[in-house]
Amino acid sequence: MTSRDGFQWTARDGLKQGVPSIGVISPPTKIQTDKPWDVVVVGGGYSGLTAVRDMCVAGLRVLLIEARDRIGGRSWSSNIEGYPFEMGGTWVHWHQPHVWREISRYQMRGELESSFDFSRGFNHFELRTDQGVTTMSHEEEDSLLATGLEKFVNVDGNMCRTLIPFPHSGFHNPEARKYDRMSVLDRLNEISQSLTPNERASLESFILLCSCGTLETTSLFEFLHWWALGGYTYQGCMDCLISYKFKGGQSSFAIKFFNEALATGNLSYAFNSPVKSIHDEGKQVTLKTRDGRKYTASRLVSTIPLNVLSDVEFYPPLDQNRAQATKIGHVNQCVKVHAEISNKDMRSWTGITYPSNKLTYAIGDGTTPAGNTHVVCFGGYFNHIQPEEDIDATKSAVTGMAPGKMDIQRLVFHNWSKDEFAKGAWFFSPPRLLSDSLDALRQRHGNILFANSDWAIGWRSFIDGAIEEGTRAAFTLKEELRSSASSTRSH
Ligand code: FAD
Repeated sequence: MTSRDGFQWTARDGLKQGVPSIGVISPPTKIQTDKPWDVVVVGGGYSGLTAVRDMCVAGLRVLLIEARDRIGGRSWSSNIEGYPFEMGGTWVHWHQPHVWREISRYQMRGELESSFDFSRGFNHFELRTDQGVTTMSHEEEDSLLATGLEKFVNVDGNMCRTLIPFPHSGFHNPEARKYDRMSVLDRLNEISQSLTPNERASLESFILLCSCGTLETTSLFEFLHWWALGGYTYQGCMDCLISYKFKGGQSSFAIKFFNEALATGNLSYAFNSPVKSIHDEGKQVTLKTRDGRKYTASRLVSTIPLNVLSDVEFYPPLDQNRAQATKIGHVNQCVKVHAEISNKDMRSWTGITYPSNKLTYAIGDGTTPAGNTHVVCFGGYFNHIQPEEDIDATKSAVTGMAPGKMDIQRLVFHNWSKDEFAKGAWFFSPPRLLSDSLDALRQRHGNILFANSDWAIGWRSFIDGAIEEGTRAAFTLKEELRSSASSTRSH
């Protein structure tokens, strides 16, 4: 099945919107109206899929409403000529507890593969800055980045272990809040004298790869939180952030959640159904879709992401702190572009081109069925492009990562900035948002619960955080509805 989402360019067919994915659900609607629904879940990303699955398995009757034609939300894979290009969330790791529990539960440990393969080809890293090009081994790349990062994160003289001793409880040490009031630029200014030009360029590029905002709009705390989650080392971060992916793509994982929920017989669903409004009427919640359909249940779980939450009307209106946070939003406007190139030596290549190019960080990420190299490239808001609007500019941004080596056969991407159900990529906090609003974002609103990776506590902004949040919502409602069902029975 082909999703409306995503774009593909080839020399033969030009630019086409929509790419095939096993995450597209057909038929798109399955509604059982024989009994009332216990819970409506809005959104079929990992938060929603986890909540739906856990509640269906527990015997609750659940209705899933999703704006798109597919599951997965910001994590989905296209399947082009048998090859899964990851359009959004990709990499997972056994140090991510929620995601690993699911990988293990679905017996998918053997489905993971490494993105990097340094066994053949160029096997080097290229750093392109305004000062020139430096080619180095991957060991030298690691050492350059590790040295810059260690200077950057060492705000407590203990590589952040003192500041963030419990990464799954980020503000455990109240001192950490101070760093949420600083931007990464503030910190760069503090240590600028100690950085070599190459350290500074690669460090900035790495930080911007994580936030895809600007140096001014990236919370220092949130970056330090990632570092702490990654085990307080550069290698740990690389392992968790960009190393291990599913051979069959993210959609091969997401579909397991959906199918398990469906097999219980407790799931109804409607795709292609953007929600317009959500009304908590005290005894029940009523949701209206943009095309005028109405659905009612005892409770509702909204997994609508932060940057688009204000597009849906809530009655009673959202409290001021949450509403304010949705106006501020997160800063991540990642541009992720896959390029299939004929140069086989590029499989073991990695590169940073910073700050002049529109894409700044790229790695050889796989070999396609045609034997070509798959390179994945990242850019962000600091030097933003809308890749489908000017395909020549996108091609030159790809080429700018390794001039003379990128013979582009195909481009594949999803424009997350222009996506009306995301308006951005993974959550990354600007200064103050977390310390001012994280607690408010996690609160329920009467019969409405909010679950999204954007306000998870641990691996916030990752697939792991989405599963953490879906689990939290389902657990709350299973307890609540089970006790209300048993108190009804006892009367
Ligand atoms: P979402 O996936 O956003 O799900 C929310 C759902 O709500 C969507 O399906 C949306 O369509 C739906 N929705 C929104 N508005 C409405 C409406 N009005 N009506 C009905 N439905 C609506 N994470 C990792 O762990 N590893 C990575 O390598 C990684 N890389 C990433 C790269 C990119 C380019 C992106 C975009 C994300 C990446 N992430 C990564 C982050 C990860 O994808 C997300 O954190 C996670 O998928 C979010 O899941 P969620 O269910 O909380 O939210």
